[in-house]
Amino acid sequence: MQPHTHFLFPLAIGLLLFRFGMISWKIALLCAVVGVLIDLDHYVEYVIHAKKNRFSFIGMWNDSMTKESFVKRSFTHYWPGMIGTTLLIIILFPFSSLASLVLAIAYYSHMILDYIELTQKRFVRWKMLFIYMKESYLNIAFDIIFLTTIVLLLAV
Ligand SMILES: [Zn+2]
Repeated sequence: MQPHTHFLFPLAIGLLLFRFGMISWKIALLCAVVGVLIDLDHYVEYVIHAKKNRFSFIGMWNDSMTKESFVKRSFTHYWPGMIGTTLLIIILFPFSSLASLVLAIAYYSHMILDYIELTQKRFVRWKMLFIYMKESYLNIAFDIIFLTTIVLLLAV
């Protein structure tokens, strides 16, 4: 769960399409917001599996940052979820190609980042008041790359 990276990656893709005149900046921003909201699947998994503080969002967050008990993958990461979401993207297309595109950018960028993150072994960890943070070195590199891309796409 890295909401900032899940925001920046689809935003960079969306802004690239914006620069090509294919979508508006508002739709690019929507791609980013939906990219973050996909992580609500982890909250659903936490509510199902947690032994205490089941509905605590902070409990879910800290569990994901500190414990191995956290369910790293949810239904959206497995074949049924991927095929189901892809079917939804295809079915949605004739009704709203834009909604289909937003979901495709948000979901596929999210899955790419999640699967890369699962392979990471080296992390930076810190704590802000009662909230634990953990970020892989590669994810930090991604943040820098996406931020640079976004700034260039907006500035050039
Ligand atoms: Zn995720």
